[in-house]
Order: sequence, then C-alpha cells, then structure tokens
Amino acid sequence: MNFPDPADEAAEREQQLIALALANRPVPQMTYTGECHYCEEPIDKGHFCSDECRTDHERIQHALRNQKVA
Ligand SMILES: [Zn+2]
Repeated sequence: MNFPDPADEAAEREQQLIALALANRPVPQMTYTGECHYCEEPIDKGHFCSDECRTDHERIQHALRNQKVA
C-alpha cells in the first residue's frame, strides 16, 4: 500500500524551487582585479588579502548603504 502524501509532495516541490532560486541568484558584483578591494594589496585570487580587509570593506559598504541623506 502506498498512499502519496500531499504534504511530502509540496515539501519536495518547495525544495526544488529553493534549489532553482539558489542556482539562479545573481553573482556578486565584485570582479577580480588582482588587488585587495580594501587596501589594494596585490593578491593572487579572491577580492581581499585577509579576512580583516573583507570584514572592514563589508562594514563600510553596509554603512554606505544605510547612510541617510540628511
Ligand atoms: Zn587588504
């Protein structure tokens, strides 16, 4: 006996939608420039030379985004 459970089916469809949304999400705007985006230190890969630079850069971007024009 095998009764399909509508709740299970809905959950599975939701998982598929989530997977699709993740696959289609926009890629980050940052491009590899060969330099740390924060301190401009030359780097081989990625966007920052260190976690500290990434954190500081994100903090600044966050502050800029939330800046209200007086
Ligand atoms: Zn840096």
